Amino acid sequence: NLAERMPANEIPELNRLADSFNRMAFALEDVEQRRRELVSDLTHELRTPLTVVEGYLEGLADGTIEPEPEIYGNLVRETSRLKRLVNDLQELSKAEAGYLPIQAKPLAVRPLMDELVQRFSDQLLDSPTRIKLDCPENLPRVMADAERVEQVLVNLIGNALRYTPSGDVSLQAWVGEQKQFLWIGVKDTGQGIAPEELPHVFERFWRSDRSRDRNSGGTGIGLAISRRLVELQKGVIRVESQLGQGSFFQFSLPIAKKSLGLSATKVLAP
Ligand code: ADP
Repeated sequence: NLAERMPANEIPELNRLADSFNRMAFALEDVEQRRRELVSDLTHELRTPLTVVEGYLEGLADGTIEPEPEIYGNLVRETSRLKRLVNDLQELSKAEAGYLPIQAKPLAVRPLMDELVQRFSDQLLDSPTRIKLDCPENLPRVMADAERVEQVLVNLIGNALRYTPSGDVSLQAWVGEQKQFLWIGVKDTGQGIAPEELPHVFERFWRSDRSRDRNSGGTGIGLAISRRLVELQKGVIRVESQLGQGSFFQFSLPIAKKSLGLSATKVLAP
């Protein structure tokens, strides 16, 4: 027995070593478990649209389905869904492996939010849903990667519009209580999320049964990617929601520290 032959003062060391070894083994098991889950989720998600496409093609081939425009429309829709799934997956796997380069620089978020509101408004001309910007002019800059922040916002706005067939979507931003983080939020007055579903929305491939039923064209990956992108930028993402009332997705980004030069100028200015 090794412990018996060790001087008494080295036994705690040995225990610590054994502890960290155990923790490493657990972490590895966790990774393996997640990999298994991913493969099984993936198989399921790919099989569903493939089965639909296969069914149509077989029917067309043996003449049991009439070659009508609607059928081709469905085929295109399912194929697009497959393609979106593969694209989203690639993004997700890059984000999870930490391969998405993040170039954090001081960034003003209001102009970005403004531009997105414009862009989405243009797409909503025939829709009863409206989108607006609702945030103060003078917000502090954040340390973040503009492209990645845009990606998260596009995901959240896309969802808000998708799950708000008629209503309002607003983009908001405010400084957190500790003044360390800027919060950005996308609020909608849409279908909302049930309390028991809320803890799952950021899991990959998770979609509420209602969203699946409506075949909204989603893949259930957007929020998992968004969460990873926010975390890579040292922020957090959260959601509040009430079924039938709407949802409020919010994420934080670290406020950029003013450089010494700037604050010195400010203090010395007449
Ligand atoms: P999807 O591509 O299905 O939208 P996401 O990962 O972006 O995938 O979202 C996962 C699920 O969370 C959605 O399928 C939907 O059920 C729910 N969800 C996300 N955003 C909203 C929202 N703004 N309102 C209601 N439900 C939402």
